[in-house]
Amino acid sequence: MDLNLTPQETAFRDELRAWLAANLPKDWDAWREKPLEESFPYLRAWQKKLSADGWAAVSWPKEYGGRSATLMESAIFWEEMARVEAPPMANSLGLGLIGPTIIAFGTEEQKRRFIPKILSAEEIWCQGFSEPNAGSDLASLQTEARLDGHHYIVNGQKVWTSYGWVGSWCELVVRTDPAAPKHKGLTVLLVDMKSPGVEVRPLRQMTGESEFNEIFFRDVRVSVANVLGKVNDGWNVAVSTLMYERGSYGARLHLIFKRNITRLIELSRKFVGNGKPASEDPVIRQKLAQCYAEIEIMRLNQMRAFSRITATGVPGPEGSIQKIFWSELNQRLQQLAQEILGPYGQLTAGDARAVDKGIWSYGYLRTRGNTIEAGTSEVQRNIIGHFVLGLPRSY
Ligand SMILES: Cc1cc2nc3c(=O)[nH]c(=O)nc-3n(C[C@H](O)[C@H](O)[C@H](O)COP(=O)(O)OP(=O)(O)OC[C@H]3O[C@@H](n4cnc5c(N)ncnc54)[C@H](O)[C@@H]3O)c2cc1C
Repeated sequence: MDLNLTPQETAFRDELRAWLAANLPKDWDAWREKPLEESFPYLRAWQKKLSADGWAAVSWPKEYGGRSATLMESAIFWEEMARVEAPPMANSLGLGLIGPTIIAFGTEEQKRRFIPKILSAEEIWCQGFSEPNAGSDLASLQTEARLDGHHYIVNGQKVWTSYGWVGSWCELVVRTDPAAPKHKGLTVLLVDMKSPGVEVRPLRQMTGESEFNEIFFRDVRVSVANVLGKVNDGWNVAVSTLMYERGSYGARLHLIFKRNITRLIELSRKFVGNGKPASEDPVIRQKLAQCYAEIEIMRLNQMRAFSRITATGVPGPEGSIQKIFWSELNQRLQQLAQEILGPYGQLTAGDARAVDKGIWSYGYLRTRGNTIEAGTSEVQRNIIGHFVLGLPRSY
């Protein structure tokens, strides 16, 4: 493929650069290291500013507040945001996963009701899929919804719900027909998190944060008007959300990784272990070079994925290949930081002796989740084994 920008892509990039030059907040550094609970209002305000000028969801159709950007323009958007180290947007699941699913499956009324507030971050969304006994095997989920007049009555439990603590609405997958085969009796409901009977409990992660939650539903009433897609066709709707989830990361991660490897190379030059800078250790040098090469491979794979979607109109298995590649590469990079820092790698942000304000200990712990979230590495390998290599199904 031709990696040079077309005149239209160059104009898109230049318009964005000018907007960022005028609007990028100057005080993000002061907020960056704070816990998400504290910085969340800041991130909301940033998203609101982006959305006011049509930059919050560039790939969405113009009629829904996006810019109908091509895949390449979306990639340019994320590259530019990473290049200037822009703050992330608050409503990341609403913008990346749930908004596109509502646009694809929602009624006109649902789109009018929900889309503008997803864009402006006025309403934050969470994704109620996983349950204690249904993660990789999502179709086994047990949260049930029973029809009672014009409402469903929901009972059950979800777990690992990111942004549950701040969520206004939830894309909830429930079982509406317990007699049907497990993939067939599911329905997606759009649930107001303030409904009576919804209880959100924090889950503490090893980073110390409570990024995600357990959610309990006890006789929660949800109007039939809030069914997304068709009743008992929820598997189709949920898989669509997962495709957006797996496909949406690669472009924005490449430059973040590039920034991290650059920072790590700098660190290796100044950090003295075993009597000399880590950069003079031949094993560390080999590993740094290997990581750098792999980050370039990640970029080329992403381009290949874009190229394929542009040519065929549908995402290929590159989404799963990318997911395995970036998540395991990120863990190797953080592992390398620990090897360079030795015991100092364990110091966290609160310790005055922590190197780079503790980002490496935080990164090492947080990246453990990368190979689990959005489908584990084993599940991605199963997808590639079955759909690309034609091997028998794993179950
Ligand atoms: C940071 C983070 C954020 C998350 N956010 C959300 C969220 O917002 N909403 C939500 O609904 N969920 C969320 N999750 C949950 C996530 O989707 C699940 O953890 C994931 O799908 C795995 O499910 P599980 O934890 O039940 O593990 P299990 O499915 O029980 O898997 C346990 C182990 O068995 C392996 N395994 C399972 N099946 C197979 C198989 N067929 N072949 C080979 N190996 C297999 C897995 O790879 C894993 O190693 C999040 C998870 C993390 C870590």
